[in-house]
Amino acid sequence: MQDIFETPITYLKGVGPKKAEVLEKELGIKTFNDLLYYFPFRYIDKSKIYKVKEITTDSTYFQLKGKISNLKTVGEKRMRYITAVFSDDTGSIELVWFKGLRWIKNRFEPGKEYLVFGKPSVFKNHFNFVHPEVEDYTGEEEVVGQRLEGVYSSTERLKNSGLGTRGISKLTRRLLNQVADSIREILPDYILNAYKLIDRKTALLNIHFPENPKIIEQATRRLKFDELFFLQLQLITGKIYLKEKIKGHLFSKVGENLNTFYKKYLPFELTNAQKRVIKEIRTDMGSGKQMNRLLQGDVGSGKTVVALMSALIAIDNGFQACLMAPTEILATQHFNNIRQLLDGMNINIALLTGSTKQAERKIISENLLSGDLHLLVGTHALIEETVTFKNLGFVIIDEQHRFGVEQRARLWKKNINPPHVLVMTATPIPRTLAMTVYGNLDVSIIDELPPGRKPVKTLLFFESKRLRVIGFIRDQIKNGRQVYIVYPLIQESEKMDLKNLMDGFEYLQREFPLPEYRVSVLHGRMKTEDKEYEMKRFVEGKTQIMVSTTVIEVGVDVPNASVMVIENAERFGLSQLHQLRGRVGRGAEQSYCILMAGEKVSNEGRKRLETMVRTNDGFEIAEADLQLRGPGDIEGTRQSGMLDFKIANLARDNELIVQTRRLAEKILEKDPKLELPVNRLLNAELQKLRREKHQWARIS
Ligand code: ADP
Ligand code: MG
Repeated sequence: MQDIFETPITYLKGVGPKKAEVLEKELGIKTFNDLLYYFPFRYIDKSKIYKVKEITTDSTYFQLKGKISNLKTVGEKRMRYITAVFSDDTGSIELVWFKGLRWIKNRFEPGKEYLVFGKPSVFKNHFNFVHPEVEDYTGEEEVVGQRLEGVYSSTERLKNSGLGTRGISKLTRRLLNQVADSIREILPDYILNAYKLIDRKTALLNIHFPENPKIIEQATRRLKFDELFFLQLQLITGKIYLKEKIKGHLFSKVGENLNTFYKKYLPFELTNAQKRVIKEIRTDMGSGKQMNRLLQGDVGSGKTVVALMSALIAIDNGFQACLMAPTEILATQHFNNIRQLLDGMNINIALLTGSTKQAERKIISENLLSGDLHLLVGTHALIEETVTFKNLGFVIIDEQHRFGVEQRARLWKKNINPPHVLVMTATPIPRTLAMTVYGNLDVSIIDELPPGRKPVKTLLFFESKRLRVIGFIRDQIKNGRQVYIVYPLIQESEKMDLKNLMDGFEYLQREFPLPEYRVSVLHGRMKTEDKEYEMKRFVEGKTQIMVSTTVIEVGVDVPNASVMVIENAERFGLSQLHQLRGRVGRGAEQSYCILMAGEKVSNEGRKRLETMVRTNDGFEIAEADLQLRGPGDIEGTRQSGMLDFKIANLARDNELIVQTRRLAEKILEKDPKLELPVNRLLNAELQKLRREKHQWARIS
């Protein structure tokens, strides 16, 4: 049976090949369904006609009624444009067109009344409308007929093809006239009733052509619900499917190595949160199903030792494990830490990065194949094809967001049955985002810091207070502490940033001269050996100040460092600032994070800095980040490709996300394959979504 909604958009009256092409290129609209799901982003009260003197620049649309005169062509050749004067009885504004000039020229009759609809901009101290939409004014009745009109976002190209917001609205009206009766319900009654949702057809009609303001809200809620709920059904059924289909390595033993480590080598008492998470992981690994778990925990919450102890479980059961980190510095540090922790135990570990020498690589390869090597730590180098294990059973990925899904998949393939996977995040992700972007993973949370940590004090300073900051650094160094000073390094202006960093380095060398002080510098352009040398000197306390870019951002652990100065702090994102701050406060001393703000700080930048001063809680910061920047900018979300929501909003629809997640879980718990008659509609829609996704995967 051909689904009418899958009809190519060219079959809609009024859409010829040219319009179809623009619709696809600009908005990705190919079918009836695509157009039906292209929603207005706001609504205007069309019955309201404004006067010229009421126009303001608060970036909203205005509808005016009046006459158009003084049409003039200005400029030469390709730079030509047309201006006209629009007037009503309170004043006049300028109208401007850059395109479609020939048509505009003969479009207007002097003395006739028009409805002009557009967004004002200010040019040379007066208002103008660029490319306004103009309609003949045909009398009051028509205006009164429909009060609320959807505003669709459009582009220059669309407008030139007659598909400004009104053009799109017209097409949608025509489409709805044709297909409204075919719109089927996709949610069973028990859900509609429980969540007080309006039916799908009413929702779709009213999202485009609302009968009243109240129904816009109901329609929006219904359509958001659909989008989020079916996403959750897909994620959770996907998870169930994997669990069923993939045989997981069974780690039945709580072995000797783990016991020995816990009793004799672990240098501290685990926090309750760490214990709980290790238990969750152990249960997974002993279930016979493959583990896919996300470990969330704030900076410094002690994720590494949890990962290590989980790796010991794998090793105790005769399997190998590997730990992949995003940078060489971090991988090296993990390697050194773990080596220290395991010192005295009979476990072989090795480090593999891009700069591992050929001879050493060979030894690693041999030992991996023979099974003599138990734990391999490294960077991307781990996923290269040449790296083959005898029996890889457990994979840990640190700072998950730096790796794509594809890289994760390559680690899966390193054994016939895929290994258990534990991914760890650098900083917490808001709960609702984790539910959607990582919704197919199980989640463990470490929500407790090791005891005895003094919260880092965060202070905000402007340039005028620099000398005070320098004095403060001097005091700290006098007391035996070490200091990080971090400069921004952002792609577009890399050269300038590097210059700033080097200028800062020189300035600090003057302020903190030899032989009393030693200052290190670290940035991405340096050779690996040089980086390691500088890092090592700082770790060993041979230098007191580390001037660097964000290469030190993730994971670096120097407990004696008690001050983190962040230059141009307003240029960093919140999670990055939080990561950087997490580099201090790891020892027993009171630590400080000093945010140096530049001259010009945007509103949003100021909010970020204020958030940092206000709280140390990574989960709260993640939440603020999501509110400030929207989900598209949160690390890790963009690659996930899960943000192409048509109407739902990950930053704002928290409640619905949680509700739909719970509902989907509850339904699938009782009816994992959606076979019960009450869930017939859900099953059908899910099948359809899967087919579409499948097609998509083949195309892209
Ligand atoms: P993150 O979660 O940011 O990766 P790490 O694993 O690097 O944190 O741990 C931060 C520091 O805390 C390390 O120096 C680690 O040895 C220490 N640590 C971890 N767990 C505990 C604990 N239960 N008690 C005391 N110190 C701990
Ligand atoms: Mg870490």
